[in-house]
Amino acid sequence: MATSFHAARYSQMEYRRCGKSGIKLPAVSLGLWHNFGYVDTLENGRDILRLAFDAGITHFDLANNYGPPPGAAEENFGRILQRDFTNHRDELIISTKAGYTMWEGPYGDWGSKKYLVSSLDQSLRRMKLDYVDIFYHHRPDPETPLEETMRALDLIVRQGKALYAGISNYPATEAARAIRILRELGTPCLIHQPKYSMFERWVEDGLLSLLDAEGVGCIPFSPLAQGMLTDKYLHGIPADSRAAKAHGFLKESQITDARLQQIRQLNDLATQRGQKLAHMALAWILKDKRVTSVLVGASRPEQLADSLRCLENTRFSTDELAAIERILG
Ligand code: NDP
Repeated sequence: MATSFHAARYSQMEYRRCGKSGIKLPAVSLGLWHNFGYVDTLENGRDILRLAFDAGITHFDLANNYGPPPGAAEENFGRILQRDFTNHRDELIISTKAGYTMWEGPYGDWGSKKYLVSSLDQSLRRMKLDYVDIFYHHRPDPETPLEETMRALDLIVRQGKALYAGISNYPATEAARAIRILRELGTPCLIHQPKYSMFERWVEDGLLSLLDAEGVGCIPFSPLAQGMLTDKYLHGIPADSRAAKAHGFLKESQITDARLQQIRQLNDLATQRGQKLAHMALAWILKDKRVTSVLVGASRPEQLADSLRCLENTRFSTDELAAIERILG
């Protein structure tokens, strides 16, 4: 029997235009970097995805190497898609990427045309899809000419294997070049995916204004700093948290006393706003209209439902913004 979803799901979500494109993305999107590998429970992943779609989240973000092991998240996602979303493919924006180590030898990493084309073919097979909506180059490659990498994205879009092209982790200077090359090729860059949170602010130094001027969308990843910008680490490291897991990318050593002090102060400020820290951290990013969507992760459905409450208040007073700067400074 086909899975049914809330009829009113689209009225619960804010959708923002992605740069100067025809696409709108939900203000909150869901990423499958963690929690969808073979070490995780498929049913839990399924519940997270179904809750997301029920709440109006139409955008799911993957990459060739998400797991563990690499490829597992795409395979698991493909299984869940076939079970629950076959009738809804046209309502979804599904993205994947290539740019980090995926297979052995000289063609399984970085930014050659050989790697990008082969990797996307593998991703499509794993997800059992004919096409993805967005295909990203995952990180700049210092050795491959940028023209080759961008021509590969252009080719992939012309072949219909992806509808749009994106870049991720590109500093402003390289992003400007990539955007120009893609425009000249006739495949405009849809979106940039950078790391951005209260704890990681490099995008404010030129990238956000570049994307705005070029009409390119922006979807920040790890907006909760992998969970640090929530109340979960206030009283130690919970056993089921990312920092406690051997395969988690957040390391215990990153949760320093200085960080914890900032987290405590931010948590107090969030309480004064009538929010939890997670809500405030996401709202703080969404207050900037140059941001198309925040790309969150969740290890349980309840967590995603909680994070979505950021949309209840994305306004900040001048005093609140100044207080945040003082804490982060
Ligand atoms: P977040 O910063 O949102 O961290 C998500 C983690 O925070 C969850 O797994 C959970 O951790 C914890 N969490 C989430 N919501 C709550 C809540 N409401 N209360 C308490 N804890 C919460 O993002 P991610 O680091 O997961 O990254 C999001 C996505 O961004 C990825 O899935 C991927 O799609 C993309 N990404 C892209 C990269 C790139 O290079 N382009 C790199 C990294 C990510 P816990 O397990 O502890 O419960």
